Amino acid sequence: MAYLQLQGIEKFFGDHRAIKGIDLEIKPGEFIVFVGPSGCGKSTLLRLIAGLEHIDGGTLSLEGRDITHLPSSKRDLAMVFQSYALYPHMSVAENMSFALKLAGAPKAEIDEKVKKAADILDLTKYLERTPKELSGGQRQRVAIGRAIVRAPKVFLFDEPLSNLDAALRGQTRIEIAKLHRDLGATTIYVTHDQVEAMTLADRVVVLRDGLIEQVGTPLELYDNPANQFVAQFIGTPQMNILPYKQWSAAIKALAPSAAKEGSIGLRPECVVLGSDASAKVQGKVDVVEALGAETLVYITTNEGAQLVARQSERTPLHMGDTVSADLALDQAHWFDSKGRVVKA
Ligand code: ATP
Repeated sequence: MAYLQLQGIEKFFGDHRAIKGIDLEIKPGEFIVFVGPSGCGKSTLLRLIAGLEHIDGGTLSLEGRDITHLPSSKRDLAMVFQSYALYPHMSVAENMSFALKLAGAPKAEIDEKVKKAADILDLTKYLERTPKELSGGQRQRVAIGRAIVRAPKVFLFDEPLSNLDAALRGQTRIEIAKLHRDLGATTIYVTHDQVEAMTLADRVVVLRDGLIEQVGTPLELYDNPANQFVAQFIGTPQMNILPYKQWSAAIKALAPSAAKEGSIGLRPECVVLGSDASAKVQGKVDVVEALGAETLVYITTNEGAQLVARQSERTPLHMGDTVSADLALDQAHWFDSKGRVVKA
């Protein structure tokens, strides 16, 4: 049985159908990440699950019980917001204990839970401070701590790291992963950052325009995207997409017939640079990004296609150099003109 089940979930804002009938089964303990471009409906879907928005169609159930129209406070879910939403005049300890106090829990139990959460989140020495005396990363940890002390059935995170700088974001991401490993709580996490999605999720749900495009483990999405949209959304740098009009003769010769007029998709690691005149494409180097452990080389082919190659070794190439690129066509993704997958 699914732990949390969404069946035909719909949401309208006026005439606008923002969520268009979503079906999803979440297993106990799973870490699910909703990703998708701005406006695809990921925050709305999370807010519907949280009970912060009214569900206009479909059914939501938790452990087999219909909670579609249950008030948020009765759902036994805890949400962590991007903006932290801490009470500014309360100390860290008071912020963390507030919900339990409201629920009338005994003081000893509250103290014990706050102490444990503070310990897990490395907040023990800040318990008496107010939020304004904390850094952004510490505030976010308090917001997470407030959710932990409630021991909810499901944790909901709405872009919790987007107000943090890059270094702190990476660090907090690892803390969230560890927390999930230690607590094993069912978690739904919204982000537009596909690196967060890939690193945190057991399964990723890719949304577009109020609908699910694909659900799968991070590597399933990376290796077997259901269509061109998912292929381009997952992976950094993005998958190279070459439309038919930019194909070299060598690509045309090997393309499956259903992909003609469509496009070929190649991950950056499937583009191998060299100076071999018999390689699949020839071109010029636009930019070289030496990142230390890997090098990204951006080229424009003689057919006008833009390609990025990922190399694990350092490169003697420079801007403006002539270059050839061999393409690992056995690992290529072929798409028809509508962006649907074509089998090679
Ligand atoms: P972002 O990454 O930009 O936060 P999102 O994927 O979370 O985007 P939502 O915030 O869920 O997207 O919005 C989905 C759609 O619903 C958008 O078209 C948005 O304009 C619309 N929408 C969201 N909230 C409301 C609202 N309160 N009133 C009217 N329309 C809304």
